[in-house]
Amino acid sequence: MFGLLKIRIVILAAVFLGLVPFVASEIMRTRADMAKQLETINHSMLLSLSRSQRGFIEARIEVERLSETVALYDNLKYMTPAECNRNLSRILELYEKVERISLMSPGGTIYCSTDPKAINVYLGDRSYFISALASKRVIWSDFIQSRVTGGLILQSAKAIRTGDHVDFVLAIALNPAYLRQASLDQFTFPLSYGMLLDASGNVLDGGPMPGVEGHLSEVTAKRLAAIGTGLILPGTYGAGNDVFGVTTLPGTTDRIAFAVSTEKIRSAAVEAMIDRLVMVGLVALGIASAVIVLLEWLVLRGLRQVVHVAERVSAGDWTSRITRTSLLPDLAVVGRSVNMMLDSLEASVNTDVLTGLKNRRALDGFLLASLNRLKRHGAGFTVVMIDIDAFKLFNDHYGHSRGDDVLQAVGATIQRFARRADEIAARYGGEEFTLILTETDPQKLAPHLEALRKAVEALNIPHLYSPHGICTVSIGYAAANRDDSPLTAVSRADGCMYLAKRKGRNRVEGVPEGHHDLEIFSSFRTEVA
Ligand code: GH3
Ligand code: MG
Ligand code: MG
Repeated sequence: MFGLLKIRIVILAAVFLGLVPFVASEIMRTRADMAKQLETINHSMLLSLSRSQRGFIEARIEVERLSETVALYDNLKYMTPAECNRNLSRILELYEKVERISLMSPGGTIYCSTDPKAINVYLGDRSYFISALASKRVIWSDFIQSRVTGGLILQSAKAIRTGDHVDFVLAIALNPAYLRQASLDQFTFPLSYGMLLDASGNVLDGGPMPGVEGHLSEVTAKRLAAIGTGLILPGTYGAGNDVFGVTTLPGTTDRIAFAVSTEKIRSAAVEAMIDRLVMVGLVALGIASAVIVLLEWLVLRGLRQVVHVAERVSAGDWTSRITRTSLLPDLAVVGRSVNMMLDSLEASVNTDVLTGLKNRRALDGFLLASLNRLKRHGAGFTVVMIDIDAFKLFNDHYGHSRGDDVLQAVGATIQRFARRADEIAARYGGEEFTLILTETDPQKLAPHLEALRKAVEALNIPHLYSPHGICTVSIGYAAANRDDSPLTAVSRADGCMYLAKRKGRNRVEGVPEGHHDLEIFSSFRTEVA
């Protein structure tokens, strides 16, 4: 209606524009958060890898110590296979990291083992066995496929000698399930991959963790093998959204590698950011709506008052004004301007242009108000009619312009005789003027109006065609009665004025003794005309 749609759009746009820096800072903050979390992941990955590595070394040391211990069982070589198996099995029970303990003949055949399936299996061609025959230390294999179980195995071998003679070769296999679990236990965050790779990047064991889709790309596997120990960051070497960490198992050429997805971190950070943005957006929308509602209420309230005043003025009530000052400065200015405009319009609407006195319209309103006061409060008043004598002849002789000057001079003189706020001097029309005076006592009125008549005389305006030689006025006055209408109140005074005319003009006449009947006053006018 008042173009409020535009205001709404502007306010909403302003609020949401105000949010732009916040959105930007949220995006930056989220990015920084993500970068920090990724940094943390990288760090944790390296830490977990080094812990896994340490676990692996400890397991190996334990196996090597066990090898040295078993080597001290000098009588092992004299035992029957059954006794040997029993003794080894008892030892095995104490070592959870160990999968199998076997004794091999210098020819490479297992003759005593904790695993009955291993008996008679030939391992003489295994490189670690051959190396062990030539060494005094414990020799380790890489991860290899077991000829006993078919599964992956990490095997140690130590030749037990009497002098230079090899009595037998002690072979202890690490438990791969234990190793795997021990490694995984080092990770405090969910992994996408956990795997064992050989030096060329072939996956020996492991792969995507349960519940994780996708497969390891060849590029990533080759890269993991190539770096040996370190990280592959997301987006590089086919890593996708994952961070890969790899480390070479000491004493082997094999590597363990793990991957953790950063997708969840990214999506969680973005979701948290969106949540914050939505919340702030909703709050901003709420505030904007409240501001809009308040503004509309203020604007509409102010405008309705303007409309109301305009309607009252159109209906003739020139006193109607905007009374409530709007809280909106612009509307307050509108209100003041409208009031100022109405003040000046009211003044001009009620003023006679020629004389500056109140005009007929103002007189009618004033008379009505005075009659109301008389009826309600008994506040009496007198209507005085003043008519310039032989003015037509003056105009005819001296011209209208000079006539106008006379009207102004006489008007100014009459004005001086209405001094109180509840009195009025008005131009009734043509060369007739009206005074409404609060005095009702003829004893006081007669001299007062006589003074007015003399004041006009004193203007001393020459009038060749007047019997008096100068411009004069005839004055009639009559107090208003309680039951008068404006017309009757004026007519009575008008009748008296015509009585003055009839009696020779340049006179003051009040209501004659005993003549209150309106008919009589009307007759005066007819007689003069
Ligand atoms: P009387 O003594 O009986 O009042 O005679 P009069 O000539 O004054 O009365 P009449 O009503 O015949 O004439 C009034 C004249 O007033 C007629 C007109 O020329 C003049 N008049 C009325 N209004 C104006 C005005 O605004 N300016 C001028 N210059 N003359 C006006
Ligand atoms: Mg007249
Ligand atoms: Mg006249």
